Amino acid sequence: MAPEQVRPDQAASHEPVVRASSLHPPRFIAPEQLPKEPDASPARDFLLVTCEHGGNRIPAPYAHLFRNAADLLATHRGWDPGALTLARTFARRLHRPLLAVTWSRLFVEANRSPTNPRIWSRFTRSLPRDERQQILERWWRPHRQTVEEAVVAALARGHRVVHVAVHSFTPELDGEVRNADVTFLYDSRRQPEAELCRRWVALLRQLNPALRLRYNYPYRGAADGLTTWLRRRHPATRYLGVELEINQALVGTRNWRRFQQQMTESLRTLLKHHAQEG
Ligand SMILES: [Zn+2]
Repeated sequence: MAPEQVRPDQAASHEPVVRASSLHPPRFIAPEQLPKEPDASPARDFLLVTCEHGGNRIPAPYAHLFRNAADLLATHRGWDPGALTLARTFARRLHRPLLAVTWSRLFVEANRSPTNPRIWSRFTRSLPRDERQQILERWWRPHRQTVEEAVVAALARGHRVVHVAVHSFTPELDGEVRNADVTFLYDSRRQPEAELCRRWVALLRQLNPALRLRYNYPYRGAADGLTTWLRRRHPATRYLGVELEINQALVGTRNWRRFQQQMTESLRTLLKHHAQEG
């Protein structure tokens, strides 16, 4: 049976969809601020949670470009429904920092490099070059820089960094039904990441054998993105980046809360296990 498509209004009832606004909220959010460290012995893994497609806001000076795009912004093309909720659950329950972007990916793609043409959407592509440069400086770079600094700081304290970037994917794209509930995107050339994902999947299977789990689906983990960017800067043994992708069909269902608990508990056990071994 095909998973049910999450309607924008359905998603909105569980997670407010914020449209173009004249307010000037922070450019990115760090709700948990930087870490309380209840258990930061150096050998421990440092969990960093990020969310690059957490919302669909458009900064006021650019709202006019999106005048007729409210419906599109509300779909998976504008943001990752459910991703920020799950990322917040991880951060809150595991007492870890969360660094999130709530500007729409259609404004500037937080999970693309500046040299990737797909960092721009059809709404922003034709802006003058210096204006795009300003957007990069003011709205794209702060997240990347904050994440990079958090990674560097944790490495300097002797931790191994486990970076979980939380995303969600639409149950069906261009007629193709995605047959997975949770997927783990990593770089298969980096053995510690492969091993971490394999263990996470095993733990999750114990908690919920019904979940359909896959690796590097529906995207490749080594494609352009924040984790790939960080992999180029840090060795495989010290920086482990995983893009966690959840099917948007799970969001807001009867089991949504339980699902988030299972994800959190499996991640908690995963990190504990590694710390004991380390
Ligand atoms: Zn995403």
